[in-house]
Amino acid sequence: MATPQGKIRFVPLLLLRCPYCGFTPLQANGSWFYFGQGCKTCDYVYEREPGYFTGASWMVNYAVSAVFGCAMGALLLFKLPDLDALWVASIVSVFLIAFGMWFIPYSMAIWLGFDHLIHPLTPADRYRERAPGKGAR
Ligand SMILES: [Zn+2]
Repeated sequence: MATPQGKIRFVPLLLLRCPYCGFTPLQANGSWFYFGQGCKTCDYVYEREPGYFTGASWMVNYAVSAVFGCAMGALLLFKLPDLDALWVASIVSVFLIAFGMWFIPYSMAIWLGFDHLIHPLTPADRYRERAPGKGAR
């Protein structure tokens, strides 16, 4: 299989598909917040180590949410200057909670894509080789 080593493929990431083959959905069956263990098509392992996606929350989701929250707050204060700051903060907070929950799988996919860019697949990153009885580490 021809593979895009060292390249980010944005379309599969936006569709929440494997960054390596672009075919298999990243999410586990029926789950919005959890990814499967790996790609069943190309054997790309999604979670390389315990806590792998913690960086997705801290470095991608919170950063994007903060930018959107600040932009939304500034827009509300600009468009509705008579609106009390407490209302602005309340509206932005409710929006950010909903946005943050919705954006979780996308932040994980972006994290996975950038990790694929700087840390391309090695034989140790193969999903099937980590299966029980096949030398899981
Ligand atoms: Zn794949």
